[in-house]
Amino acid sequence: MDVGPSVQDTLALVYRLQTIDSEMAHINQEIEASREALREKEEALENLAQTMESEKNEILRLGRDRRDREEELRTNEHIISENKKKNKELKHSREIQAYLAEMEFRRDEVERLQEEILRIMETQENLEKALKEREAEFVGRREEMEAFRTASAEENSDRAERIRGLEVEKAALTEQFPAPLFQQYTRLRQSHRNGLVISRITNGTCEVCRMTLPPRTLTEVKKRQKIVPCLHCQRWLFMEELPAGN
Ligand SMILES: [Zn+2]
Repeated sequence: MDVGPSVQDTLALVYRLQTIDSEMAHINQEIEASREALREKEEALENLAQTMESEKNEILRLGRDRRDREEELRTNEHIISENKKKNKELKHSREIQAYLAEMEFRRDEVERLQEEILRIMETQENLEKALKEREAEFVGRREEMEAFRTASAEENSDRAERIRGLEVEKAALTEQFPAPLFQQYTRLRQSHRNGLVISRITNGTCEVCRMTLPPRTLTEVKKRQKIVPCLHCQRWLFMEELPAGN
């Protein structure tokens, strides 16, 4: 591609443009990463709130369970004390046997219910303790999340500011571009990996693919008459103006 005698100037512009584009892409990635980090923190907090909610419901359910069993326990204890009063009136052995069987059953029930109530109370206590710890954890993590939200909002507003600055610079730069070159740059930027279209030559190697360039290529680049692509990665080769004396 022939771009006339000012090829060096043009490539310097392309290189600057690529630097701006890469910087903008990098800043946008930072913005996205910070949003993603915030989303993760919000999600973790939401999960914690849901865990706490189901623990609260479980504690309530255990409370109802316990009241039901206490009610049942009172019923059995009442039956036992009522039966004891009638005990003296029993005469026939069949009645006595039935009475004893009933009493044994009721006493087993009382024992079973007392054990169950104790087990429920123990579970309730453990759950309440766990919930209390989680509530403290939730408060801490919510504060941390709010601080992160504030800090990342500030950072992202700085980033947006930097992007606006780069956009202004890019607009000014593209004005100096021949339109076909800008279109070609834009197309190659999408097709090349990392969005790199142009590569600087440092110490005789291509900065993008790190391959040593043959002397013939370097000579061609130094002539500054046309755009010379890297033989290995096809990027446009660009040699920065060296300070006088080098
Ligand atoms: Zn290369």
